Amino acid sequence: MINNNNTNNKKPTPNPRNPILIFLALGIAGIFLFKLFSPDDSSLFGRLGGNSISQTIEYSEFKQLIKSGQIQNVSIGQTLIKGVSKNTTPIIYYTTRKVQDQTLIPLLEEQRVKYSGFSEQNFFTDMIGWLMPVFIIMAIWIFLTSRMQKNMSGGMFGLGNASKLINAERPNVRFDDMAGNKEAKEEVVEVVDFLKYPERYAAIGAKIPKGVLLVGPPGTGKTLLAKAVAGEANVPFFSMSGSSFIEMFVGLGASRVRDLFDKAKKEAPSIIFIDEIDAIGKSRAAGSMVGGNDEREQTLNQLLAEMDGFGSNAPVIVLAATNRPEVLDPALLRPGRFDRQVLVDAPDFKGRIEILKVHIKGVKLAKDVDLNEIAKFTAGLAGADLANIINEAALLAGRENQKEVSHKHFKEAMERTMIGLEKKSRRLSMKEKRIVAYHESGHALMGEVTKGAHRVNKVSIIPRGMGALGYTLHTPEENRHLEQKHEMLATIDVLLGGRGAEEVFLEEVSNGASDDLRRATGILKNMIVYYGMTDVSGLMVLEDFTARNRFLGGGGNTREYSNETAQKIDAYIQNKLEEHYTHVKQTLRDYKGAIEAMANELLDKEVIEGERVREIIIDFEKNNNMESRLIPIEEA
Ligand code: ADP
Ligand code: ZN
Repeated sequence: MINNNNTNNKKPTPNPRNPILIFLALGIAGIFLFKLFSPDDSSLFGRLGGNSISQTIEYSEFKQLIKSGQIQNVSIGQTLIKGVSKNTTPIIYYTTRKVQDQTLIPLLEEQRVKYSGFSEQNFFTDMIGWLMPVFIIMAIWIFLTSRMQKNMSGGMFGLGNASKLINAERPNVRFDDMAGNKEAKEEVVEVVDFLKYPERYAAIGAKIPKGVLLVGPPGTGKTLLAKAVAGEANVPFFSMSGSSFIEMFVGLGASRVRDLFDKAKKEAPSIIFIDEIDAIGKSRAAGSMVGGNDEREQTLNQLLAEMDGFGSNAPVIVLAATNRPEVLDPALLRPGRFDRQVLVDAPDFKGRIEILKVHIKGVKLAKDVDLNEIAKFTAGLAGADLANIINEAALLAGRENQKEVSHKHFKEAMERTMIGLEKKSRRLSMKEKRIVAYHESGHALMGEVTKGAHRVNKVSIIPRGMGALGYTLHTPEENRHLEQKHEMLATIDVLLGGRGAEEVFLEEVSNGASDDLRRATGILKNMIVYYGMTDVSGLMVLEDFTARNRFLGGGGNTREYSNETAQKIDAYIQNKLEEHYTHVKQTLRDYKGAIEAMANELLDKEVIEGERVREIIIDFEKNNNMESRLIPIEEA
């Protein structure tokens, strides 16, 4: 494998509906209501009895009332003056506008009227008083939400509205709508059959997969395939994105999982589709989340419980999509859960032509459009990108008021799409392709001529998301539980084949071999510290070989050896790698013509099958009168 050290791009998540406006509107409405129903000025005078009235009067009139001794009590504000009548039934509350009048206080003194000041709170000061706390709470809330989670969909009042996030439909998508990816379709045909005739399987007691993981880069049709399964089986399809399970309220995600499964079970047979499952299923060991870890864990546990909960004959099947299967919690992949993986890969040349044909239906093409040429130009693109290009080309033609879409529209559409994608590094430049082609050919050759190595199944220079720019698939002939020493060493030779080919056949080496080198180093280290296969420490195991160590990638400080031993280990690994690398480079030189033939064929076709790899090697050996080093099938 050659790997790309850039990280993958994620699908953009939909913008959440903005709850701030709702909040603001409620706040203002609340204040209005409060104002409307709150008794006007009564608080100034104590309780307002049943028989009392208020009156607004002229200042002169008010002063007259004081003079005539009909006022018992006066309150003076900034703009208003209020007074309470003396000995009247009902009591009258007078209000008047304040006037600059130096004689008022002496008059009140003279009449022995009690007086005091009051602060007039007007509507706006009231409102600010009420709104401030609301704004502060909102600000804190916004701060927290934007920090704790980037994908909030559903809104903040959402405890009960999971159903809005669950998308229920009966898709009329068919397998034919998905072009290419024949293997992936074959894998899920069985699922369709089970959904159609559950009783048939129940009768013979067949165990049916509960969960199928669709693995592949974005836009390659995972959602499409899941829908096609539902469409072919004619069952309801419930879908939800993994990211929408993770909310800021602990427990909410879990309750959504429960909702989702309840709905699906009610309408069984049915399909549940969880997109971006890595958002929930990220390995607990990864532990990189700051907040929300509990929430993720609870959600994940609920999902596991639901999957374990329904018996193997419940006709609900969970499909999930991810482009990063390596980060998933191992618990998700255990038997009875997502124990099947289906690779939904970026299409090869033929696949791209088929996808173009699917999406070109209904589009009027000019005579100068050549699908072959478009397919050639779009190496590395996913189905979604191709659909996009066709649509873009049609739009361009429409804008020009043309009746048909012609080549120049496609050309422009492709260029636009490519520029967008080049940034996301899904597409390789010509120079990179050449590096990848030689690198993978090196792996493939070593795989075929090294005893104990797995046979080559397929070599590809189509970037595969997940960080791989190209890959060589090796098939183990049978599931191996035990690995012999020579098989481990063979794997090292195969791993070193990529870098070796770069060094022998290209001007310069690249950083593409980093993962290969890491793995080769790891194998040697394991042979020393766990398996007692070297003379560094003989049979003595140097590290605690527990599941924890294995799964958590070394697990930290369980090292039980001295610095001196550590130096010995380093030296051993370095020497061994050097020794194998020398052998690998020599082998590659011996097979120069074969490597060149393979690399050229890869540059041309992008993918070659294992069978073809062997043919190339045999041809080369014959032409050069070499004794064949190809490992015969029964021995491999
Ligand atoms: P994913 O779920 O893998 O990200 P989608 O299923 O959402 O990808 O694909 C998006 C769209 O791209 C599909 O709706 C379809 O129009 C198009 N598409 C992707 N792959 C294919 C394919 N193999 N055949 C036909 N159309 C495809
Ligand atoms: Zn490699």
